[in-house]
Amino acid sequence: MNFDVILVRYGELTIKGKNRSDFINVLVKNIKNKLEKYQGFYQIDKQFDRLFIEILEPSYAEEILALMQKIYGISSLSFAKKLAKDLDVIGAMAVEIVKYYQPKTFKLEARRSDKSFPKNSTEIKQYLAPIILKNTEVKVDVHNPEMQIDIEVRRDFTYLFIKRIKALGGLPVGVSGKGMVMLSGGIDSPVAAYLMMKRGMAVEYLHFATPPHTGPEALEKVKTLVQKLLPYAGTKTQRLHVVNFSMLQHELMHIPDSTYRITIMRRMFYRIANIVARNNKSQAIITGESLGQVASQTIESINVINAVAEMAVLRPVLCYDKNEIISISEQIDTYTTSILPFEDCCSLFVPKNPVTKPRLHSAEIQEKNLLWEDIINVIIEKHIVTYVIKGDEIHEEN
Ligand code: ATP
Ligand code: MG
Repeated sequence: MNFDVILVRYGELTIKGKNRSDFINVLVKNIKNKLEKYQGFYQIDKQFDRLFIEILEPSYAEEILALMQKIYGISSLSFAKKLAKDLDVIGAMAVEIVKYYQPKTFKLEARRSDKSFPKNSTEIKQYLAPIILKNTEVKVDVHNPEMQIDIEVRRDFTYLFIKRIKALGGLPVGVSGKGMVMLSGGIDSPVAAYLMMKRGMAVEYLHFATPPHTGPEALEKVKTLVQKLLPYAGTKTQRLHVVNFSMLQHELMHIPDSTYRITIMRRMFYRIANIVARNNKSQAIITGESLGQVASQTIESINVINAVAEMAVLRPVLCYDKNEIISISEQIDTYTTSILPFEDCCSLFVPKNPVTKPRLHSAEIQEKNLLWEDIINVIIEKHIVTYVIKGDEIHEEN
């Protein structure tokens, strides 16, 4: 059966006033980005408590709905019929729908947001139920109906829908600023990106490569991960900054106490992330660190590493068990890419016994004679390539 409209219910919309209109405007912008290829085949009617996506070409309705299920800021969706505010017209459509889907039982729900409509919600149901019962075989079951028919009487039209399709919830990406995700190619950091987008934070990605130790496959893997995260981004494209970290990696071989190597390397990651984030107008650094998962993720390590951060470091999977992170990564389809066996820079660089409880003072002593400041300047100047990713198209930004 063809429907005219997709009814969109907003996600977490406790916020009021100007924030509410920002929320709605950002959501509409993100929907337009997402539906770019369907331009001309739909129309958005923006209202205070709902969006209505009018489908102008019914054969695209299912595809459009599927895309909308991956947009943050939408709690649920329904296909709906858009009808005149005439109960007999509405009754006739309900009968047609019941005849088409042939449920054995049904339940009727009505809402009236137009309080000037002459019948209230109970009276609407009392008027419509007998029409449906008289003209079809269906029976009422208010507890466990096979089909629920919802009627929503609004200012200009009435909407009739039969299903609520759950969407992602969260906030529209863009209402919570922007963060720079340190994306490793592992399982955790793509999930971290996904979770921050859920709270409305736009993201860019930062990856540290150490060629020739890490090959082109590792870079491909990271690009694929960004492609897989793009559906949630709210934008048409995503940016990935790839840092050639090799110069600094060599320098880190001069650290006197090799057990501190990972700690210092991660401090260098953060130092570079500070600058890349700032240069790209990000207000936070995002990582896939999870408390206690590995030696560099004890609270002592996190403190020593965090000491060099110049902005908030957000760690959305900090409290997740590995299997919880894996289950999200399966759900967003990054898992199979994340487990591809390519070396990342850390795996080549791990000392036998990395320190699990580093001390800030000791870390600072280890760094003292390294030329890291000069090297970071050179890296920022010359060794970052930014890719712009849009579906299968990937190009280098000048
Ligand atoms: P992941 O599964 O995300 O790789 P992990 O459990 O392997 O995480 P670490 O290797 O200790 O943990 O890395 C912790 C976090 O540091 C990662 O989640 C990521 O945010 C960041 N990170 C690690 N390596 C890189 C890299 N090569 N480039 C960018 N960020 C990195
Ligand atoms: Mg890793």
